[in-house]
Amino acid sequence: MLIDLRSDTVTRPTEEMLKYMMQAPVGDDVLGEDPTVNALEQMAANLFGREAAIFCPSGTMTNQIAIKLHTQPGDEVICDRMAHIYNFEGGGIAFNSSCSVRLLNGDNGRFTAEQVREAINPDNIHHAPSKLIALENTCNKGGGAYYSFSDILAIKAVAHEGGIPMHLDGARLFNALEETCETPVEYGLAFDTISICLSKGLGAPVGSLLIGSMEHIKKARRYRKVMGGAMRQAGYLAAAGIYALENNIARLADDHRRAKAVGEAIGKLPCVKRVLPVDSNIIIFTLDSSVLDINFLKQLKSKGILASGFGPQTIRMVTHLDFTEAHLNQFLSTIRQL
Ligand SMILES: *Cc1c(COP(=O)(O)O)cnc(C)c1O
Repeated sequence: MLIDLRSDTVTRPTEEMLKYMMQAPVGDDVLGEDPTVNALEQMAANLFGREAAIFCPSGTMTNQIAIKLHTQPGDEVICDRMAHIYNFEGGGIAFNSSCSVRLLNGDNGRFTAEQVREAINPDNIHHAPSKLIALENTCNKGGGAYYSFSDILAIKAVAHEGGIPMHLDGARLFNALEETCETPVEYGLAFDTISICLSKGLGAPVGSLLIGSMEHIKKARRYRKVMGGAMRQAGYLAAAGIYALENNIARLADDHRRAKAVGEAIGKLPCVKRVLPVDSNIIIFTLDSSVLDINFLKQLKSKGILASGFGPQTIRMVTHLDFTEAHLNQFLSTIRQL
């Protein structure tokens, strides 16, 4: 059996999820008439204790809409140098919002209130106005590291002082919540807008949600249309999202436990120089010079294991819904024989 650890996006909908999708009542969501999309949006808003939410085709779109909501052309966005919004969204901050970016050198994707304070531009004509602080939790490029909530609140205090809104790229927020004791409502209070992905650890085939105030989400509906992301009978997809939120959050603990086991096994390989701390469902490691990354990936592939190249001599593996205990056992015995 093939072991696909390239991403937690590779999961396929289960039988039950598909059944749930197929029986969804649908309508034209561009007209606001899809009852299942409306139900999912309401569910997400309630979950985070906020007024509204909008269903979008991707997390890139929810993030990019959020950046657009909070900025004007020529403004500056503050985020970590590892941020998905900066590294993996096609240069969208420039393309969609014409903003400059201040990159912070955080700890595996997490920055501090002090770093934010230093990065906020003084209010004079030499500088781009600092208009958005964007956090990512968990941090993809940081090996799934998560923030402690007190650090987030400290950043929030600095943001508040400067009158600067906060956006959360919470593509894997539920993975962070699995490891900490906060509730989604606490996050809803801390951030102006939150993006969550349904198609990562939660196992839905498509979709993300942007959550925030009525005013922001109303504006977001126009931006989604401009970006070509308004869909028609999207209720079939939204149903998968409802199913995912109802059934697939509690099981993230399994992904984390299996990721730790994967990380431990990887760390024992002689060619592995360093494994980032495995804090959630992501394992990132670097190889020494004894083997080239592409050859290591080829060798894994020949043994039925798929992983992703993630920078020079760097490999990423991600555990997910379709990586079962049986897959883990096969993975461990294969790795021991490498
Ligand atoms: C996957 C991901 C996104 C959204 O990606 P899409 O592929 O556009 O859905 C955003 N942020 C992070 C941290 C991600 O891992």
